[in-house]
Amino acid sequence: MIYDNHNRPITYLRLAVTDRCNLRCFYCMPEEGINYLPKQHLLTYEEMERLVRVLARLGVSKVRITGGEPFVRNGLMDFLWRLKAVEGLHELHITTNGVLTAPLVPELVRMGIGSVNLSIDTLDRERFRTITRRDELPAVRRTLDALLEHRVPVKLNAVVMEGKNIEDLPALAELTRHHPVEVRFIEEMPFNGEGSHYPVLHWTHQRILEELQSLYPGLEKVADAPFSTSTHYRIPGYEGTIGIIAAFTRTFCGTCNRIRLTAQGTLKTCLYDNGVLDVRALLRSGADDAELTAAFLKAFAHRPKNGFEAERHRSPVTESMSTIGG
Ligand code: SAM
Ligand code: SF4
Repeated sequence: MIYDNHNRPITYLRLAVTDRCNLRCFYCMPEEGINYLPKQHLLTYEEMERLVRVLARLGVSKVRITGGEPFVRNGLMDFLWRLKAVEGLHELHITTNGVLTAPLVPELVRMGIGSVNLSIDTLDRERFRTITRRDELPAVRRTLDALLEHRVPVKLNAVVMEGKNIEDLPALAELTRHHPVEVRFIEEMPFNGEGSHYPVLHWTHQRILEELQSLYPGLEKVADAPFSTSTHYRIPGYEGTIGIIAAFTRTFCGTCNRIRLTAQGTLKTCLYDNGVLDVRALLRSGADDAELTAAFLKAFAHRPKNGFEAERHRSPVTESMSTIGG
């Protein structure tokens, strides 16, 4: 196992396989004028598989596939099967918007997917259309139904946005009544391709908690898994749990075990850094596995202590989450 310069183990890779998406979520992408990466700038599946093998030898045991929307990239399912066979990789997970996912759920189950994170900010069709700028809630609901039917461990991601989905908090929380899901309420971050939408963040993790406590006075704290970014609660008698993620307030950096590879093959050792290593250039210049390993180890030995330190060393955050992968 490899530890960083702050004694945190590096065991978890978030891998963005594309920057393209079939939705246009308000908090993630501008409505128009998106410059997608030219295809040759994306890592190929062969390149990604090789990087996962190198990282698995260094102790990375968990990979989450993300994007953009992973399922819009051709050949994703074959790639997932190949990753499942990587020695040392114990857990494979995926984050999806669910638009194309429902028919693929049985195959995901067959390959042994660890869990699926499904993004769903509202259960109201009109508000969904306003937030994502597409009318796809029925397809996302079909994915949720298929995941529940096949008993896939599910986390539901909802970004909490002033003026957009506050009225949805109770309906989303109610999903935990009869289903063993974790509904996660996430602070909005300024990763939308444009910069901050508001001068201050209205819905901090504390305010989200206060709102939930006023809706459910009996809300009880439950244990958090090691390295978890969410703080967990349960409504008494309900099957599932509620998580709150202080993504902007960054209360969890002290136990951060994750690194990211963006769709164009840039290594980020913190969500808020500017990219610390051009892995694609290294790969395409003919680096062998020993050189890749040395470059990763050097990056891990220089991780910022937290997201605030990472942010101080860069230009203001404006890039779209679709290139980073969340
Ligand atoms: N397209 C997939 C999806 O939406 O689930 C995977 C990629 S998406 C970038 C990963 C996660 O990042 C989603 O749950 C999304 O809600 C979250 N996200 C995107 N932009 C965000 C932002 N500005 N603030 C907080 N979360 C954000
Ligand atoms: Fe697409 Fe996911 Fe970004 Fe929404 S959050 S625009 S679904 S990448």
